[in-house]
Amino acid sequence: MKLFFSIFNNLSSKEKIKFIWISMFILLLIFLELFSLGLFLPIIKIFFTSEKIFIFNEDFFFNQFSFEKQITVLLLLLVALYILKNVFNAFLIYYKKKFLSDIQINFSSRVFKHYLNQSYDFFLDTNKPAIIRNLGILAEYIAVLENFINIVIEVFILILIICIIFFNDLYVGSFITLFSIFFILIVYKLFGNRIKRYGELMNIYQERLVNNYLDTLGSIKDIILQKKQSFFIKDFTNNVSKQAHINVKNGFLVELPRQIIEILMVIGISSLMLILLTVNKSFEEIAVTVTFTVALLFRAVPSITRIVYQSNGLSFKLDIVSKVHALFNTFVKKEVFLAKQTLQFNKIELKNISFKYKKTKENIIFNNVKLVIPKNKTTGIIGSSGSGKSTLLDIICCILEPTSGGIYLDEKIIDEKILYSWQNKISYISQKNYLLNGTISQNIAFAEEESDIDANRMNYAVKMSKLDTLISSHKEGVNFQIGEDGKNISGGQRQRIILARAIYRETDIIILDEATSSLDNQTENEIMTDIMKNFHHKKTLIISTHKKEILHFADEIININDLKI
Ligand code: ADP
Ligand code: MG
Repeated sequence: MKLFFSIFNNLSSKEKIKFIWISMFILLLIFLELFSLGLFLPIIKIFFTSEKIFIFNEDFFFNQFSFEKQITVLLLLLVALYILKNVFNAFLIYYKKKFLSDIQINFSSRVFKHYLNQSYDFFLDTNKPAIIRNLGILAEYIAVLENFINIVIEVFILILIICIIFFNDLYVGSFITLFSIFFILIVYKLFGNRIKRYGELMNIYQERLVNNYLDTLGSIKDIILQKKQSFFIKDFTNNVSKQAHINVKNGFLVELPRQIIEILMVIGISSLMLILLTVNKSFEEIAVTVTFTVALLFRAVPSITRIVYQSNGLSFKLDIVSKVHALFNTFVKKEVFLAKQTLQFNKIELKNISFKYKKTKENIIFNNVKLVIPKNKTTGIIGSSGSGKSTLLDIICCILEPTSGGIYLDEKIIDEKILYSWQNKISYISQKNYLLNGTISQNIAFAEEESDIDANRMNYAVKMSKLDTLISSHKEGVNFQIGEDGKNISGGQRQRIILARAIYRETDIIILDEATSSLDNQTENEIMTDIMKNFHHKKTLIISTHKKEILHFADEIININDLKI
């Protein structure tokens, strides 16, 4: 119940209203169910007693009908009611599914949006397979709501049936009530926890599988060269088979109650007949009661089965619900200021910056660092691998928040109000900017609609970054597909595309974080010379490297080790 409310709270107000509508329709359906079941009693009575039925007062029009006419009217009523009920139910099922799928669409995109609005810290602390798995299980989260709605409907119907049986015969009523409660409790106690555990395991293996995919595809070259296929296949098969195994066990436990219930039903009805015989009822009375009860039980059994089935489904997905809730709690809901401001400044100044990665215990990377970066100059940052160059640049981009200290534009601190405008001024080129699985032009314009791409800027960027040779060697030109993470192009071409991205954006500040380190000396020199030709003294360049040679044109060189003292 608590679970349901927490899910309900995560719905938008429009969805909540729709949900209330559905609940009312369900109530209506339950009423129809009541009438159609109640109608069985007079029909059975009229057949077994072969006597006319009298309801309400003498003058009621139904009582004036002949015996045959009464039967005909009752049967016609029965047929009409069943048609109405089932047509209505069909409509309701559709409406319910539609409602749930609408929620799912909203919900998934909301969660995706939440993810994308998290700070960079969040992604440093969360592992990729878990994120991918979480996005995958969102659909299941909504299925939990469906399970819950179905359980509520069936419980209502079951209570209704039991009430009708009670109304007709106290003994039989109590018997069936006890039987149902007993059965549902036993099944839940026996299976519930186990199925819940299966649900948890299922998610663990799901995450491991995603990990398998990422690891295998990411190191496919090494796998092929070192012939390590069997290692990865073994790991993968292991996870898949464990998952399949859980599915078998879970599927069995979920289906089992159906078989048990059938056996118990027959035992129940037989003992009911015996009990009724011993309490000295007339055969006719027993016949009416038993027939009516069996008719109702025919409706009750699917209800009980569904309750058990859906509760088991719910237990299986409990882990997902708690995961999604945990996810919601990790999301920091902060205000994002998207107002663009023009920022005028002559220097970028780091004042008393200290930093350590949140996850690590000691390992303070910077302590009270002071640094001035002049506008439209080229500043080089030199330091060996692991000395903290990337960390420093991430702090300057405000993608990592310093533990203390601040970054100032002249005397104005960069706070969250101007953060967007600040980051909007920066292009960041590293060794490992990911390339989108698309065309050259889509990668240069980066996440711009095809119709929004500015052809002039595109041509300029292509020319300045010397991508012409790559483009002219493919008949598709700028529409050449570079493949996932640029697997169809060379390392140099890849860095040139990232460079073209920076030129296309026309930002004032360009940060190069070992942007050319992975290239051969000749390509590195060519690209660096091109960058200088394009930007030197026109833009603010911050270049980090472990090679002093490429910084010969820098206006100022900062050794990162000097900052750390
Ligand atoms: P550089 O770019 O100069 O090679 P980095 O800035 O990448 O160096 O790393 C500086 C130090 O911070 C290294 O000791 C590295 O181990 C550590 N470090 C980098 N990223 C993380 C992280 N996400 N969590 C914890 N420590 C990190
Ligand atoms: Mg680095």
